[in-house]
Amino acid sequence: MRAEARIDLDAVRHNIAAVRGRAGSAEVMAVVKADAYGHGMVACARAAQQAGASWLGTAIPGEALRLRRAGLDGRILTWLWVPGDPFAEAVEADVDISVSALWALREVEDAARATGRTARVHLKADTGLGRNGCQPHDWAALVESALKAEADGLVQVVGLWSHFACADEPGHPSIALQLAAFRDAVDYAEQRGVTPEVRHMANSPATLLLPESHFDLVRSGLATYGVSPVPDLHTPAELGLRPAMTLAASVASVKRVPAGHGVSYGHTWHAEAESTLALVPVGYADGIPRHASSAGPVLIGGQRRTLVGRVAMDQFVVDLGDGTAEPGDEVILFGPGDRGEPTAEDWAQAAGTIAYEVVTRIGSRVPRVYL
Ligand code: PLP
Repeated sequence: MRAEARIDLDAVRHNIAAVRGRAGSAEVMAVVKADAYGHGMVACARAAQQAGASWLGTAIPGEALRLRRAGLDGRILTWLWVPGDPFAEAVEADVDISVSALWALREVEDAARATGRTARVHLKADTGLGRNGCQPHDWAALVESALKAEADGLVQVVGLWSHFACADEPGHPSIALQLAAFRDAVDYAEQRGVTPEVRHMANSPATLLLPESHFDLVRSGLATYGVSPVPDLHTPAELGLRPAMTLAASVASVKRVPAGHGVSYGHTWHAEAESTLALVPVGYADGIPRHASSAGPVLIGGQRRTLVGRVAMDQFVVDLGDGTAEPGDEVILFGPGDRGEPTAEDWAQAAGTIAYEVVTRIGSRVPRVYL
């Protein structure tokens, strides 16, 4: 084994159950885009459904179609579309489509005509995030056009929704403003005659910390995988979550070097004293952040160690000092943390990034092994 990402599907099931506990009467969507944040989309989607997630969420249509091809049924919402995307294929495959603008509604109408089916759409309001979603000044036109398409039997507006900018910063003033803007958008649409099945806004931090944002459905991404979306405030355990991914590798070689020996490209690190170095055969091609050079933590032989010198494409080096290891020994880069190993949050801190990025970027040449 060079390296593997061990995925604990029981942890995924546990986390969905925990999210359901927080969500009260709201339904739960497991967000499985980006290969389930690096955890393996199909297996995690199945586990999430087993634990009661009644919706799956993907960013791009190819992900939703892959879920259907793998035999997953149940509701799937896909939200990031560009002109020319396979709208008809998505409608045929019973995928719910997010619509933020008139051009997308036209594409959905064409897809409905082409397939002879009624397309299910969720109208998305930009309540302040400034990314996708319809601005308030365009909302009336979008709602009217959607109602017309509904009257023509082409679409059914089943959802009204939005997305937070700062839900991971409790008390941030934008949260209350976005909630108020969302309520306005929903009220307007409902007064005009839209009868949504689900209104939804909450991502993981809002699901865990902001009950008033739950509405009819919560969208759980990072929490599904047991990683804290608010690492400065709460550990996963404090949130009732269990990290699902353990990233392990095998020591490739061990050697003793004299004091002053440089390590890796650019010689950004030199051994202060005679030292034992272990070579770990994963690098930035596997998603190990180069920004964690001389900072990333690992567990070898039950001891916490730090990688030294630059992370290269396929490998990095760990200073064992006067300790030792054998080729083939297990190196844990991160895991739940309950055996003394670092966590994804520790790597995020070492690399100056967020744990979302750490897990999602683990590369395709690292096999996922399901526990
Ligand atoms: N909803 C939308 C629209 C998203 O883009 C995402 C992820 O970025 C999520 C929900 C899930 O977010 P989180 O991982 O914070 O739960």
